[in-house]
Amino acid sequence: MLLLPKFDYLEPENMRSALELMASLKSNAKIIAGGTDIIVNMKKGIISPKHLVSLVKVKELFGLEQRKKGIVIGSHVIVSELAESNLLWKNYSLIAKAASVLGSPLVRNRATIGGNIVTARPAADLPPALMAVGAKVELKSKKGRREVALDEFFLGPGKTVIRPDEILTKIILNELPPFSGGDYIKLGHRKALEIAIVAVASRVTLDKPQGIIKNVRIMLSAVAPQVIHAVSAEKILMNEKPTDKLIERAATLAMQDCRPISDIRGGAEYRKEIVKVLTKRTLANAVKEVNRKKVKSER
Ligand SMILES: Cc1cc2nc3c(=O)[nH]c(=O)nc-3n(C[C@H](O)[C@H](O)[C@H](O)COP(=O)(O)OP(=O)(O)OC[C@H]3O[C@@H](n4cnc5c(N)ncnc54)[C@H](O)[C@@H]3O)c2cc1C
Repeated sequence: MLLLPKFDYLEPENMRSALELMASLKSNAKIIAGGTDIIVNMKKGIISPKHLVSLVKVKELFGLEQRKKGIVIGSHVIVSELAESNLLWKNYSLIAKAASVLGSPLVRNRATIGGNIVTARPAADLPPALMAVGAKVELKSKKGRREVALDEFFLGPGKTVIRPDEILTKIILNELPPFSGGDYIKLGHRKALEIAIVAVASRVTLDKPQGIIKNVRIMLSAVAPQVIHAVSAEKILMNEKPTDKLIERAATLAMQDCRPISDIRGGAEYRKEIVKVLTKRTLANAVKEVNRKKVKSER
């Protein structure tokens, strides 16, 4: 059994003290949220920060709130809260779905949304779903705050634009236009405790129920060093009616949009085939969700 290296554990009382600490300790410190990634990496000797800064007392990082134009989620909100949120199931069901398949109940009760983003694993469950709805994150340091679209946040496996003195504070979900729907599906070897072999998150916005596609995002996960858009699939869907035939063509293009690697969990050709299947299913389910919502609101 590997032992943890020595470190100081710090628990600032509020955001101001947390930002002061990160500014003074810089690269010697790391944030600890749920600890489900960082402790494992410290035990493996991949990182050995001198200080761990816990955000457990920073109250403003804990809410999941409806705002005038969307939803704001504090970075310390745990994954099980996302999976159980009626607000998310109603407005961004693909995010709630991604949360509900992350790890096991034990992991979901500790892991936070902020940790799942900053850790930047190529197969993490929440980033593709968040990117499919155009989510942004708020980053704070002693010097100020900035907002970054998740599309621009990731630089590669384990690498992001976050600076050593910055804390990810919020995830901002802008209100989706009417007639929007989405879906997230991951394939793993087992039902629980499994990172994705391939995962796809799709979101469509139609001009009206049964209408044409005005906006679409298809995010492919675990098929590149970071989550990617299925660019040519998105392109042929725009301004078209989402017929079964068109969805089939888009799914074939999505397969060509990625260059997965072969590893112990799956071969490259197999992963491509799965991209096709999951793109088809998530798009069809996203369109179904638009039409289902309409039927409900008519009742
Ligand atoms: C058994 C097991 C199964 C798992 N299964 C899955 C799975 O199916 N899907 C999946 O996606 N992941 C899975 N994971 C990985 C892990 O649980 C998630 O990535 C989790 O969301 C990480 O969140 P955390 O709060 O535990 O982060 P931590 O481990 O506390 O931190 C992770 C990284 O993010 C940084 N960080 C955290 N919060 C902030 C912040 N607010 N600002 C700046 N930096 C921050 C930390 O410094 C660290 O570098 C699994 C892990 C285990 C142990």
